[in-house]
Amino acid sequence: MTIEITSLEDLRNTVAAWRQAGDRIALVPTMGALHAGHRSLIEAAKAQAARVVVSIFVNPTQFGPNEDFERYPRPLAEDRAALHAAGADMLWLPSVATIYPEGFATRIHIAGLSKDLEGQFRPGHFDGVATVVAKLLNQVTPEYALFGEKDYQQLCVIQRLVNDLNIPTTIIPVPTLRETDGLALSSRNQYLSAEQRLLAPRLYQILLETGNKIVRGGVAPDILHEARQMLKKAGFGAVDYLDLRTEDTFMPPAQPLNAPARLLVAAWLANTRLIDNIRVVPSGITT
Ligand code: AMP
Repeated sequence: MTIEITSLEDLRNTVAAWRQAGDRIALVPTMGALHAGHRSLIEAAKAQAARVVVSIFVNPTQFGPNEDFERYPRPLAEDRAALHAAGADMLWLPSVATIYPEGFATRIHIAGLSKDLEGQFRPGHFDGVATVVAKLLNQVTPEYALFGEKDYQQLCVIQRLVNDLNIPTTIIPVPTLRETDGLALSSRNQYLSAEQRLLAPRLYQILLETGNKIVRGGVAPDILHEARQMLKKAGFGAVDYLDLRTEDTFMPPAQPLNAPARLLVAAWLANTRLIDNIRVVPSGITT
């Protein structure tokens, strides 16, 4: 059974009772509109801890003024059923007033990491993410928290947050779950028309093709430029970025690559912004 909790007091009491019983807790933070990608995070959480808490909170502070906060899907009844089927122990469902009560004045900013790629195109986004995740970790006090590699830069930001603030939670990355045609599962995929949905897997295919060219030793700036052109030719609109970053420090990597890197992309299909990334491992490097 998945218990549903909406007040901080009930959350604290339940967590205390679980701790008393010797149970460890894993948290899966989400914005709801749950899909199989979230489900794989819940499965990974169950493998780590006796108790799994899934939070659903569409966090207003991580959306820009012209972004999709209002239209972001909120299918709560389906989400409840999905959590029940997945065997989550608790749905933590705070209101905006619980997270941001009157007078709330704190904002966590992770310098450097937050400015790059996503941060450049979504100013303030990672401040909102870091602030809400810090709050969720303080509220639930989990031993583990699980995040998808789908949002790779977010994962780096959160790992930095936890290290820098000595938050005693271990962050566990979970690989990206994809449709059979390669499209990464995302709550935003439901914005796509049938025609756009057919086109969307090109994003992943072009990442793979580009990754292969880089591994074979091509000149990365040329290959990356070519990849952006390929996306546009395929029917994508603006390509916010398609770029390489080192895995741990999220810096532009040395050329040619001498360590595994991430190839990351954000591109628009009409009014829908899709992001994805893959790992690129130069030949001869074992990981
Ligand atoms: P969201 O509800 O979009 O904020 O996502 C909640 C968590 O699920 C984040 O840690 C995401 O990275 C993760 N996630 C979203 N899509 C996927 C996916 N296709 N595979 C694995 N994890 C995902």
